[in-house]
Amino acid sequence: MRRKLAAGNWKMNGTRAALAEIAAMAEAAKGGAEVLICPPATLLAEAAQNEAGVAIGGQDCHAKPSGAHTGDLAADMLHDAGARYVILGHSERRQDHDEHNEDVRDKTRAAWDAGLTAIVCVGESLAERDAQNTLDIIGGQLAGSIPDGATGHSLVVAYEPIWAIGTGKVPTLDQIGDVHDFIRARLERRFGAGVGRSVRLLYGGSVKPSNAAEIFAVSNVDGALVGGASLKAADFVPIIQALN
Ligand code: PGA
Repeated sequence: MRRKLAAGNWKMNGTRAALAEIAAMAEAAKGGAEVLICPPATLLAEAAQNEAGVAIGGQDCHAKPSGAHTGDLAADMLHDAGARYVILGHSERRQDHDEHNEDVRDKTRAAWDAGLTAIVCVGESLAERDAQNTLDIIGGQLAGSIPDGATGHSLVVAYEPIWAIGTGKVPTLDQIGDVHDFIRARLERRFGAGVGRSVRLLYGGSVKPSNAAEIFAVSNVDGALVGGASLKAADFVPIIQALN
């Protein structure tokens, strides 16, 4: 059985005052679903120390274990600060930092070497969807971004259509189901049925309390990667509860 996962991606939001929001989420984290918050790196260590019931993750890592890379963080540093997950290949990283599938693959290897679970993000642009290229794009991202040797413990895949992120637009439930079924089939084909069936698949893009339950009822949706609605406990707790 795949444990449901409610993952919050705080992006470049939050100072120490926001740690109280994580504390307010801890009670809801006592249900069946796993709860993960990926705060900015400045809050990682304190968040991980404070909250036993909420898992903490990074939002990116470097592919190298150490060295002359000003401003970057190695996977082992995230782990040492208390992170157990790291988001990799988010479309904002792919766009803002020109990250390509090969970069995401190298970072995923580095994350695994440090003992982190990688949440690898894939998703199509609106132009790609309109051109009916969605599954080709997703297939290429999966093949290129995930290294060999994935397991149900080391890998989570997040499907995040770029046009749904922060826009309030959400694909239809059929569209979400089609992509999640496709991702599941690709993982089973590449890694075998056992591993393929054990990797959790998250939907991300404008998830909010009002649409969470219907999205979670779609086949092969094992949880969500939530941006804006994960910043406040008042929004994120109902999303967690829809999974519990
Ligand atoms: P959103 O972001 O929930 O604010 O749309 C999701 C994400 O980028 O992970």
